[in-house]
Amino acid sequence: MTASPMVQVHELSKSFGDTSVLSGISFDVARGQVVSMIGPSGAGKSTLIRCINHLERPDDGYVLIDSEPMGYRLRGGDLHEVSNAELGASRAKVGMVFQSYNLFSHMTALENIVFAPRAVKGMGEAAARSRAMELLDRVGLAAKARSYPSQLSGGQQQRVAIARALAMDPLVMLFDEATSALDPEMVGDVLEVIRGLANDGMTMILVTHEMQFAREVSDVVFFLDGGRIVEQGPPEAIFTAPTSPRLQTFLGTSLTRPTPII
Ligand code: ADP
Ligand code: MG
Repeated sequence: MTASPMVQVHELSKSFGDTSVLSGISFDVARGQVVSMIGPSGAGKSTLIRCINHLERPDDGYVLIDSEPMGYRLRGGDLHEVSNAELGASRAKVGMVFQSYNLFSHMTALENIVFAPRAVKGMGEAAARSRAMELLDRVGLAAKARSYPSQLSGGQQQRVAIARALAMDPLVMLFDEATSALDPEMVGDVLEVIRGLANDGMTMILVTHEMQFAREVSDVVFFLDGGRIVEQGPPEAIFTAPTSPRLQTFLGTSLTRPTPII
């Protein structure tokens, strides 16, 4: 028996006013697969990521996570919107890391990680703290458990944000330009954590400008432009033999940008 895909995006469309931002996007992400999304600013990458965990409500189409509809319930062949409580439970399956780390500033690194498992999953304090310590260790920050966000560098805060997302035991992790706001010397540490997750078999969707990293870590790369997946394929094909003129132009401009050596 083949396992069902971890993520299924079916005919997703989204407009803001008269502006169509996503036009009938469909794709699957298999369990343990790493998908990178590249494309110019305004292509719809963030909107797509936000639709996947229903931070943005699609106008058409739907997303299945582990075969369960995100934000909807299937009843009598129709999709019905779920309550906020049910949506919260579905969202717990999807970890999300943004460009801005948004840690709680009045909580230590450890408390930031402990918070959601306690509040959302009702996990006991001792278990949540012990798991949080494990995760801090995994992102290389065990020594910073008691530090407040203001005492951490941007790269360290982003690694705490990744640990915080992992604390909910997500089935899939979404990263939207997780390193774009960081000083160049901090990018490598964060990418190493993401690479570690990939090696451990985490299913991930990455929106990234780090082309070299996308090339190394991805199973599949999607090139988005104008709200559509214009080209997709294994990284070697996308980066060395792009077929669409738009991808060729995009790579021509973005590959000349310096990429960090990691
Ligand atoms: P990307 O992440 O690829 O840069 P986005 O998904 O952020 O692209 O944006 C795609 C388009 O949708 C852009 O034209 C953007 O201005 C527009 N857009 C995104 N969010 C909103 C919103 N909340 N309201 C109106 N327009 C939006
Ligand atoms: Mg974006």
